[in-house]
Amino acid sequence: MHMIDRRRFTAGLGGLSVVAASAGPFAKFAIAQGALKVVIVGGGPAGATVAVQLKRGDPKLDVTLIEPQSDYTTCFFSNHYIGGFRTFNSITHDYRGLRGLGIRVIHATATGIDTEHKRVSLGKKDELEYDRLVVAPGIDLKYDSIEGYSEDAAQIMPHAWKGGAQTRLLKKKLDALDDGDVVVLGVPRNPYRCPPGPYERACVIANHLKTRKPKSKLVILDPKMTFSKQPVFEEAFAKYYKDIIELNLSNDIDNFGVTRVDTRTGEVMTKAGKTVKAALANIVPDQKAGEIAHKAGLAEGDWCPVHLENFTSKKAKDVYVLGDAAIADAMPKSAFSAHAQALVVASDILSEAAGKERASGHYRNTCWSLLAPGDSVKIGADYAPGEVAGKPALAPSGPFVSKPGESAEVRKANYEESVAWYATLVGDIFVEGATPAGRKDLGSHD
Ligand code: FAD
Repeated sequence: MHMIDRRRFTAGLGGLSVVAASAGPFAKFAIAQGALKVVIVGGGPAGATVAVQLKRGDPKLDVTLIEPQSDYTTCFFSNHYIGGFRTFNSITHDYRGLRGLGIRVIHATATGIDTEHKRVSLGKKDELEYDRLVVAPGIDLKYDSIEGYSEDAAQIMPHAWKGGAQTRLLKKKLDALDDGDVVVLGVPRNPYRCPPGPYERACVIANHLKTRKPKSKLVILDPKMTFSKQPVFEEAFAKYYKDIIELNLSNDIDNFGVTRVDTRTGEVMTKAGKTVKAALANIVPDQKAGEIAHKAGLAEGDWCPVHLENFTSKKAKDVYVLGDAAIADAMPKSAFSAHAQALVVASDILSEAAGKERASGHYRNTCWSLLAPGDSVKIGADYAPGEVAGKPALAPSGPFVSKPGESAEVRKANYEESVAWYATLVGDIFVEGATPAGRKDLGSHD
């Protein structure tokens, strides 16, 4: 028999002192008896929202959130920072609000999930037991989808498709360019996080070049033939960035997809044989569900299949997968979607815990994109489990999308709406005060 190993696990427990008692290779946290134990992996819009809604819905629930970062920088609105329209601080949030609600926030990485024995391990020694598990790790990047690209190469050719250090790095490199330098933006294959994101990224980079380095160019290399909100983006490219943006859309599958990069020379190569020498290459590789979901056996191919009425996993019992990691059909991988899915997941868990009937989820998404200062467009729809082409799917209804030729007033209203949405959403996710985060910082650079 093993000796009982008692020790205190204090990192990120927000004042709670949890005694770990172990009779084996793993320690088990001794937590409240009787209350339903919900463990959540990932503190982005998906995971943090589930935690907050659960605790608000039933303060007695035992809710633990595992998230390695003590500061979470949102990818949504990161293009506003990169374009110089808002500060880094205004898109960075912490977990104090969640702790204030009584959520146990552990700043660690979940390294393994045993869905049979209902355990999550954090490194070699620590382990958490759960009654219900919520897996919301977002995306991981498929570095090997591009020859010569890697985590190290991303220090030279940043993707800035995960929030934080990469976001800062891209902005720093953009600010350091000389007038006349060439920038390349490599776009990933579908499906990926934020379908209109690369084209908004193109607009903010082009706006920076136009106003500060007017002899520079931005070359977009895209493996796709069509993209989200294409008519309004193409209108903006022509209206605002005519001599700056060169858009290479594939006219055959993949011919302008980036296949190889050389970080020594700055060269970016495509399948069609086009090579561009870039002073700055923003390379966004293909994507898949966060690694922990794959390790846990929750994925099929790159992403995680779920039951669309409540985002329970199709691969494991008492496990939910949501946000970017899940297969949500036509519902885009966005923070808006992740938050909407989280409301349904939390409601499902609360209903079950209270012995109430569980209702099938209804979801909504809206994605705004900034084309130029004060000019934003949007796309959105409602989604509910139904049928698409005779197969069970999240069926969209009431779709809407901005159109070319809209007035400046309409676009300004979209912009204001997007800023208000951001403040409301992060207030909700991170339990922040009523101050609209970032508003005071608009227009400044950090
Ligand atoms: P994430 O936000 O990635 O959160 C996942 C969390 O899980 C991370 O904090 C990570 O650290 C943590 N994690 C991962 N692995 C582990 C592990 N093993 N253990 C513990 N924790 C782990 N969406 C919009 O709605 N509107 C927009 O305008 C918009 N703009 C965007 C612009 C850009 C440039 C980009 C890149 C994205 C944009 N998005 C936008 C998309 C949005 O950022 C994502 O869809 C959203 O962040 C997904 O939320 P998530 O919680 O699923 O994943």
